[in-house]
Amino acid sequence: MTKAVAVNNLRKSFNQTEVFQDFSLDIEEGKITAIFGPNGSGKSTLLNILSGIIPKDGGNYHIENFNHFQFSYIFQNYRESLLPWRTNFENVALPLQIQGKTKSEIKERVEKLQKLFEFKINWDHYPYELSGGQQQIVAFMRALITEPNVLFIDEPFSALDYENNLRLREHLQKYYLTFKPTILLITHNIEEAVHLADKIVVLSKKPTQTLETIENPLPYPRSLQSLKTEQFHQVKDKVLTAFQKAANL
Ligand code: ADP
Ligand code: MG
Repeated sequence: MTKAVAVNNLRKSFNQTEVFQDFSLDIEEGKITAIFGPNGSGKSTLLNILSGIIPKDGGNYHIENFNHFQFSYIFQNYRESLLPWRTNFENVALPLQIQGKTKSEIKERVEKLQKLFEFKINWDHYPYELSGGQQQIVAFMRALITEPNVLFIDEPFSALDYENNLRLREHLQKYYLTFKPTILLITHNIEEAVHLADKIVVLSKKPTQTLETIENPLPYPRSLQSLKTEQFHQVKDKVLTAFQKAANL
């Protein structure tokens, strides 16, 4: 396996709370890895450490060929991250402006992504005029506009109704199959994890360890039909069994 992300013997505490004592994890390049674990097990903390937002206490980590222009992180509170004074178009274009791309290049890149997402909104309007689901799609597009090699996503679908949830999963899958980035997807929804991920890592309670890594052999593209197959349910059962152990249910 070609490692995109390697975490070795990570340690992190907040005050008296020891989140990671001796935590190790490898993430394979060009795959979607879902991280599934009990509430408070340190999933967001892990992404925050790996992306350099908060410091670790010990151990080490490495992201292969890390380049901050080709790395994106969609936060748990994605909606608050849209800039209200910029139009929807200007929000998506922001990372390319920061990179100093020309106007025509930006227009071309945004149009390419709009086509991939088949997402019809008024691009000259502002985020507050959109529904929550639409805002989230804009936040996603802004994260993907730089065509990142490594993408971190923290519970991206949790605030959406089921229909928008399925739509956004479909968009993300399409993007993944086109560009094949390494994706680290945090979710507390087993169906989402099994729908999208190649591998599902189940974490324990604190101090957090990897309890099990479950391979998901379902072929891509995974349609809604795939969610009804025997194979899908077998993988889902495995994850549920591991989670039962993790959460002492
Ligand atoms: P998860 O995303 O898995 O639900 P988090 O990574 O948000 O969990 O949090 C892991 C643990 O660390 C929790 O017990 C949480 O209360 C604690 N924690 C996270 N961030 C902070 C912080 N900035 N200050 C104090 N405690 C924190
Ligand atoms: Mg979290």
